[in-house]
Amino acid sequence: MDFERLAELLYPNITTLPEDMEAKYPPRDLPEGAKVTRFAPSPTGFIHLGNLYGALIDERLAHQSGGVFMLRIEDTDAKREVEGGVSLIIDMLDKFNIHFDEGATADGDNGAYGPYRQSQRKEIYQTYAKQLVREGHAYPCFCSPEELDAIRAEQESIKMTPGYYGKWAKWRDADIEAIEEKLNAGVPFVLRLRSQGEDGQSFKFDDLVKGKIDVTANFIDHVILKSDGIPDYHFAHAVDDHLMRTTHVVRDESWLPSLPFHIELFRTLGFKMPKYIHTAQVLKLDDGKKRKLSKRKDPEFAMSFFYASGYPVLVTTEYMMTLLNSNFEEWRLANPDLPYTDFPFTVKKMSPSGCLFDFDKLNDISKTILSKLSADEMYDASLEWAESFAPDFAVLLSRAPEYSKAILSIGRGGKKPRKDITVFSDLPKYMGFFFDELFTEVEEYPESFNNGDIKKVLSDFVSVYSPDDDQNQWFDKVKATAKDNGFCPDMKEYKANPDSYKGSVADVSMFLRVAITGRQNSPDLYTVMQILGYDKTINRLNSRMETL
Ligand code: GLU
Repeated sequence: MDFERLAELLYPNITTLPEDMEAKYPPRDLPEGAKVTRFAPSPTGFIHLGNLYGALIDERLAHQSGGVFMLRIEDTDAKREVEGGVSLIIDMLDKFNIHFDEGATADGDNGAYGPYRQSQRKEIYQTYAKQLVREGHAYPCFCSPEELDAIRAEQESIKMTPGYYGKWAKWRDADIEAIEEKLNAGVPFVLRLRSQGEDGQSFKFDDLVKGKIDVTANFIDHVILKSDGIPDYHFAHAVDDHLMRTTHVVRDESWLPSLPFHIELFRTLGFKMPKYIHTAQVLKLDDGKKRKLSKRKDPEFAMSFFYASGYPVLVTTEYMMTLLNSNFEEWRLANPDLPYTDFPFTVKKMSPSGCLFDFDKLNDISKTILSKLSADEMYDASLEWAESFAPDFAVLLSRAPEYSKAILSIGRGGKKPRKDITVFSDLPKYMGFFFDELFTEVEEYPESFNNGDIKKVLSDFVSVYSPDDDQNQWFDKVKATAKDNGFCPDMKEYKANPDSYKGSVADVSMFLRVAITGRQNSPDLYTVMQILGYDKTINRLNSRMETL
C-alpha cells in the first residue's frame, strides 16, 4: 500500500508536519523538577467536588515546584457545551484559590502553547493523524453505524470481545482502490489506529498514586479522528499533553480502562509519556453504604453549593487537603496560622483508594476557621456572602456596620473563641434577633411556668435594669429578681431543695432571654442587652409582658 498517497487522499489540506508542531511548541524552559499540569474540563460550566479535588492536586504540584498550571478546554463534544461555561469554570475555581498561569481565558487564550480549546486545534490533530497514515499506523474506516452494530451483535452471539479488531476490522487491510471509491462517492469516514497490540498481552505500569498496576494491552483499532475530523478524548489527550509539555496528568480513576490505548497512542506517535496520577473518587456514606457522589442526588457535589451555603472558601480547600494528604491535619495542628500553601503536599501520601467526604469534619473545620476571624474580617466576609445570597440581610448589615461588628465580636478573640457559626448562612438566624426587622418569630415559654410569674419577673427586672451595670452587678439584679419572686438564686441550693421554689435563677434568665431574643439559646445575655441598648431591651421586655 502506498501510505504516502493514502495520506494525501485523506487530508489534502494538511500541509504541516509534526516537525513544524514540535518547533512551534518546544520543550519548556523550566527549572529542574518543575511540574507542568493541566485542568482539562468540558465547558459545561459545572464544577464539582471531584474537579476541585483534582484541580487542587494539579495546582499544588505546579506551584509548589515552580512549574506551570494550565486550563485546557475539552470541547470536542459540542453537546456538552454551555454558554459562558468557560467563564463559569474560571470564576468558580478562582473563588477557591485555584488560579491558572496559562490556558483558556473567558474569551481567548493566554500562553504560548495554545490554542487551549480543543475545537481550535483541528489542524494540529490532523497533522499527527496524517503522519500516522503515512507511516501505516492509521487507516480510514467507512463502516456505517448499522454495520458496526451488526459486528457487535455477532461478536456478542459468539462470546467474543466486542470491538473493531482483527478479522472484524473490515477496513484495516482494505486496498487503496476500495478506499478511493468510497472517498469519491463522498462516504464519510473515521480514522482508526492500526493497533499493534495482541489480545492477552499485559505489562506493568507505574501510576504515582496507584503504584505498579497491571495493564492489559490494547488490541482494538479505536477511532482517533471522528468523521468531522475532530478527535475524541484519547487522541487529543496524547497530542495535547505532548505538545503542551505536560509532565503530570492528574485525572479521575475512571480513565484507567483507557490507559492501555493511551499507552499505545503515545508509543506509536513517538511521544514520551507524562507521569500519571489517577485519583480515587470522592465517596459519601449513604445509609451506611459508601457510594459515589452524584450530580442528581447530592447538591453538595456542586462547588456552587459550598459557596452559596456560605462555607468560607478556605474551608473547602483545607478540608480537601485533609483528604489529599493524611499528614495534613497533624501539620495543621502544629502550624495553626500558616497558609495551607506552606504545607509540603506530596503525591506519595495520597491514598490510592476512595476517599470519603465527611460533612461533620468539614463543618468542624469551618467553625474553627470562622472562630479565628476578627469581628472586622467576619463582618466583611459575611456581607460579601449576604450580598449574593441573602440580600435583605445584607441591607441590615451594611446599614449598621458598627452595631453588626459588635454583635459579631461576641465570644470572639481570646484563646478559646466560641465556635457558634458554621457557615455564613447561619447568621440571619444566629443574629437576626438583634434587628427588629428579623425579630419576628419568638418562642413560647414552657407550659410548666405560670404566666403571671413570668410577667412579674419581667416587670421587676425592667424596673431595676441599668445599662451602666457591669456583668456582676447585672447578675446580682437577676438573682435578686429571682429571689423576690420565689425562684432560687443559688443553683446548688436549688438542686438540694427543688420543691421549695418555683424554679431557679436559670429559669429567670430564660424568661428574660426569651423575651429579648425570642429563644432559649442565645449568645451571652448581658452582652446582648449591652449591644441592643437600653431602649430596645426595655421595649422587648414590655412588649412580651403585654402578651402574657
Ligand atoms: N475532559 C476530561 C474530563 O473532564 C479530562 C480528563 C483529563 O484530565 O485527562 O474528564
